[in-house]
Amino acid sequence: MPIVASALTLSMRRRGAERDAFRRARRDDITGLVNRDVFLRRLDAALDGATPGEIIGVAIVDLDHFGLVNDAMGHAVGDELLRAVGRRLQHALRPGDVLARLGGDEFVALSRQLRRPVEARMAGERLRAVFAEPFEIDGGPVTMRASVGVAVATIADPEAEPDRTGDDTIELPTAEILVRRADAALGVAKDRGRERVEMFEPAMADRVAVRLRTESELRRALASDELRIFYQPIVDFATGRTTSVEALVRWAHPGRGLMTPAEFLPISESSGLIEEIGLWVLGAVADQVGTWASEGRTLAVAVNVSPRQLLDARLVPTLRRALHDHDLDPTLLSIEVSERALAAGDDQTKATVVATLGAIAELGIGITVDDFGAGTAALSQLRSLPIAAVKIDRSLVAEMATSGADYAIVSALVSLARTLGKTVIASGVENDQQFALLADLGCDLAQGHLFSPAVQDLRHGTHDPGVQPPADTGMRRG
Ligand code: C2E
Ligand code: MG
Repeated sequence: MPIVASALTLSMRRRGAERDAFRRARRDDITGLVNRDVFLRRLDAALDGATPGEIIGVAIVDLDHFGLVNDAMGHAVGDELLRAVGRRLQHALRPGDVLARLGGDEFVALSRQLRRPVEARMAGERLRAVFAEPFEIDGGPVTMRASVGVAVATIADPEAEPDRTGDDTIELPTAEILVRRADAALGVAKDRGRERVEMFEPAMADRVAVRLRTESELRRALASDELRIFYQPIVDFATGRTTSVEALVRWAHPGRGLMTPAEFLPISESSGLIEEIGLWVLGAVADQVGTWASEGRTLAVAVNVSPRQLLDARLVPTLRRALHDHDLDPTLLSIEVSERALAAGDDQTKATVVATLGAIAELGIGITVDDFGAGTAALSQLRSLPIAAVKIDRSLVAEMATSGADYAIVSALVSLARTLGKTVIASGVENDQQFALLADLGCDLAQGHLFSPAVQDLRHGTHDPGVQPPADTGMRRG
């Protein structure tokens, strides 16, 4: 009966395939954990079936910088890491709790039968703690960190609240809303420096709305040419002449007017747009320097590079291409890296930063440590890294004329940097008194409102007759 047999096999195979498809629709392929849909259904069921007084907690765990591991070590290693993370998170939960992979590098956990909100936070802390030890992947240790956002739903207990009016309009959030709240708390955890647990508070909801709007507008801004570059002169103490300028990005927002970096860079940092903005800035600056150079004006430009950009594999090739395409003398470009970027991250991150800085220096592009003295970098790095200059943090300059301690710090920083042969730039110089003190200490260059704020058109921005800025500094790219 070969025909019957093969029909049977076929039907069994079909049923097997249907089962697989059903399983796939419920499970995440990589980790085998349940997926978002199943999680939401279980959370809804938990909310429906909860007993009075019960607290239900939702914690979203987001791996910090997972994309870097994926990029640097390949997707197979990334997948292996996700599986290992899933296993550890599962261990940190109690029986009956539900763990799912939300997608990408995000996991979500549901904890039932809590009695106090603090227990939900503690559950979040336990999830974060699983990252304390490195993961053994691909024969070597991989360090991972995570941020966690937690939200809770408290099931009303009429007996515990005798003064309750019996108002049953106090609504229990849906699963969807609870997850969104945990996500809002996660966003705050990332904004506050990552590697931490934050609990949702109602005020976070507005913040999230603004943030989401700004983020999507920023994507549009990049596409529709709404970013601008302003330039602030950097002046030689000895001659009073402008030697170079710092490029500072602005957003000409159609509704909100000209926005400063503080209003949109933090959002672009956490949404990953910073890399795109950074590449745009480099392109625009290279175009501008190229134009100036072709007009016979040699004005060097310093560009700020964010910590995330230093980990972006496109940075060095972009710089190399910019030099090549505009046939630029590399000394006309320099980058500013905040002290924070040099101090941040685990060993792997630091090694990547060191390698990137080495490659940039090899291109002949100068590197300046920005916000020098603000607090975090190891001074030994000044010696070991290819750093040409330091820029004294403007908060120190602001207070040095009135605070003996700040004056002493600036004085020590200047002499240390000079001893190591670095150029010293003072930033935020606003008055003659600061200028005189800094000149006296031996600073080389100064930047600040005493000379000029950042301007779009240098002709109006510098009162230095020695500088002949180009007729058109048209900051738009392309
Ligand atoms: P920064 O690199 O320390 O830049 C100097 C900031 O100080 C600028 O603010 C400048 O306008 C301001 N400033 C200059 N002189 C004075 C002064 O005399 N007094 C005071 N109070 N402030 C002064 P801005 O343009 O708002 O930029 C803020 C920060 O945003 C920059 O700090 C830099 O870290 C970041 N940033 C700006 N453009 C870019 C960019 O293209 N890429 C990246 N990654 N970061 C950027
Ligand atoms: Mg700077």
